[in-house]
Amino acid sequence: MQFFVQRSSLRDLYEKVAAGERISEADALRLFESKDLNAVGAIADLARQRRVGDRASYILNRYINYSNYCILSCQFCAFARKKRDADGFQLSIEQIVEKAREALNLGITELHIVGGLHPSLPFSYYTDLLKALRALDARLQLKCFTAIEVLHLAWLARKSMPETLQELKSAGLDSLTGGGAEIFRKEVRSAIAVGKESAEEYLDVHRTWHRLGGRSTTTMLYGHVESLADRVDHLRQLRELQDETHGFVGFVPLAYQPDNNRLEVTHAPTGFDTLRTLAVSRIYLDNFDHFTAYWVGLGMKLAQVALSYGADDLHGTIVEEHIFHMAGAQSPQLQTEAAMIKAIREAGRVPVQRNTFYEPIKVWDQEATADCPEALAPA
Ligand code: SF4
Repeated sequence: MQFFVQRSSLRDLYEKVAAGERISEADALRLFESKDLNAVGAIADLARQRRVGDRASYILNRYINYSNYCILSCQFCAFARKKRDADGFQLSIEQIVEKAREALNLGITELHIVGGLHPSLPFSYYTDLLKALRALDARLQLKCFTAIEVLHLAWLARKSMPETLQELKSAGLDSLTGGGAEIFRKEVRSAIAVGKESAEEYLDVHRTWHRLGGRSTTTMLYGHVESLADRVDHLRQLRELQDETHGFVGFVPLAYQPDNNRLEVTHAPTGFDTLRTLAVSRIYLDNFDHFTAYWVGLGMKLAQVALSYGADDLHGTIVEEHIFHMAGAQSPQLQTEAAMIKAIREAGRVPVQRNTFYEPIKVWDQEATADCPEALAPA
């Protein structure tokens, strides 16, 4: 038993996890409410070690936002614009392909593409975009659209949601993104994202995608007006769907960013809150393999520490990010591969370049790391 839990009031939960037992929602709330962060982290570290061992991953990817025009006005969002706004934008398929071509030269394996709920782009824009990117490089993995965007496209195209997903898949879609989950509980959802599709609708898109053979990630936007019990309720719904489909490849908690929006919450989650949220998620979501410390919202330093609190992934190089930065994120626009390898090695883990589905592409054992001197440089 780890030192941190020997005399902790959470010792019974450590023993439960060590015995391979599932914790309850009441247990998860106890963990969230505990001030004994080191003990919570020790339990999460045990769960992480058992599930994925000593490896920690990152991905070479590029973000592209095709447009920030959106018919909704979620209260927490700093990204969306209306057609009358001077800083609204919309990229043509050719512009997106050009960005993708440039990023391929950097060695990316994934494009991560999302946008607002555009009022008028035809469904063919989205399918033609996927086909054009697929034609650019058949190996490039296309992780595109939130469940909320899928529902919007279905509505615009007057197609059923399953039919919409099937057509996107046929056009080249590899994975859905996890965005749009926010917090599932209805009262919170309407306080931060009025008019947005419900939790049931979000979950049903992922359920349908998984039944079509697809895989996806999922998220939780934390640190605004929700209670700790709301977070547990959110995790409960994700664990139930994962029991049903086993289609989620990873969980990405998203730290709320406070600037340029209409919510009266003026601070981002603290480091304490971020570490406990990742840790409790790792312990409670015992049917998920991978937990991402999203450096864009956390900063690389805290993301690195999160590797000792249940996380086993640092996300990606990204190159160009709008959504978090328009909301006040102070992190850089990109990370180099060497910086991520270094952060992972320093935390005592084996760095792994992964693909969209968290499958290993390259394992940076000692021998391989010698090929990347930057990754060995002192901090
Ligand atoms: S969060 Fe998404 S759906 Fe909501 S306003 Fe922003 S872009 Fe639109």
